Amino acid sequence: MAAEAGAEIIVKARVTGVTKADDGFVDGVIFRYFGRDYTCKTKVVIAADGIESQVGRWAGIDTTHDLRDVDICAQYLISKIDIVPDSCDFYLGREIAPRGYIWVFPKGDDIANVGVGIGGTISGRGGKLAIDYLNEFVKRKFPNGKILAQVVGCVPVGDSLPDLVGDGILLIGDAAHHSDPISGGGIANAMYSGQFAAEAAVEGIRIGDVSAEVLRAYQKRWDSQIGKNFKHICRIRDGVLKFSDEVFNRCAAVLSKMPPEKVTMAQIFKTVLKHQPRLLLELRHLILAGWV
Ligand SMILES: Cc1cc2nc3c(=O)[nH]c(=O)nc-3n(C[C@H](O)[C@H](O)[C@H](O)COP(=O)(O)OP(=O)(O)OC[C@H]3O[C@@H](n4cnc5c(N)ncnc54)[C@H](O)[C@@H]3O)c2cc1C
Repeated sequence: MAAEAGAEIIVKARVTGVTKADDGFVDGVIFRYFGRDYTCKTKVVIAADGIESQVGRWAGIDTTHDLRDVDICAQYLISKIDIVPDSCDFYLGREIAPRGYIWVFPKGDDIANVGVGIGGTISGRGGKLAIDYLNEFVKRKFPNGKILAQVVGCVPVGDSLPDLVGDGILLIGDAAHHSDPISGGGIANAMYSGQFAAEAAVEGIRIGDVSAEVLRAYQKRWDSQIGKNFKHICRIRDGVLKFSDEVFNRCAAVLSKMPPEKVTMAQIFKTVLKHQPRLLLELRHLILAGWV
């Protein structure tokens, strides 16, 4: 869509630095392309380079994570497996995915993304990495599946970055810590932040001022529409993480008695609340914001 709208796209180009004008504004990027270095001068830079964004760091924004605020993930694309193609399965349990979950997301009748995320501080404990948890699960559940692809990586599961903009630069998606703090899903939020940032950038360019002050319109929009709820979701996550496997099983037993079409987010939270009434305080904010 960007190409159709007139954008010039350069693939396999690795950004290695940003350039700054005398007044400190980011005014370009340096990139390596087929063994040669180039500089591209810009009106504004949108850093969409994923977790622990280096582009953001080169511009002076601290994008690092506390280990507690990341999940470490490993995923296979597996074919020739027995799945229900129209349902996404989640597996929870301290033994199979500590501080995270295993997912089976169908991509067709007998093919699915099967992955695991575990807490950043848990990875390596007892010598076990995310990939080890995944291999154990796959061996048990899909012993005859054919692994076609593998992806590994971290996802942010903490609050969104306090600073999303600088003079001449905006950060979006995982670079801005915009994945959901409970699920770690970040594709939809990356698209929202991309749109909000692009619109703020266009306005800054239009009025000839891309200072952080003007670009902050993006941050305000993000915070008011999505970001302000992250703190509550983080606290709900911390509450739910205290559940034992037994409590999770009790919640699942209640929910499994309902017809699937009646299992709403509100219903899930209601069931969870029975076990952790203090979460109601956080839930109240999400209900007011229309999230539940
Ligand atoms: C195993 C796994 C499974 C996941 N499954 C889901 C899911 O089912 N649903 C969901 O919503 N989310 C999922 N996520 C999270 C999701 O992938 C991210 O939230 C999302 O991709 C973030 O998009 P992004 O564009 O911000 O960053 P990314 O997708 O990380 O894209 C950043 C891009 O920038 C490039 N880049 C980095 N540095 C440079 C540089 N210096 N120069 C040039 N290019 C650079 C990278 O190569 C990459 O292509 C998953 C994550 C993992 C690790």
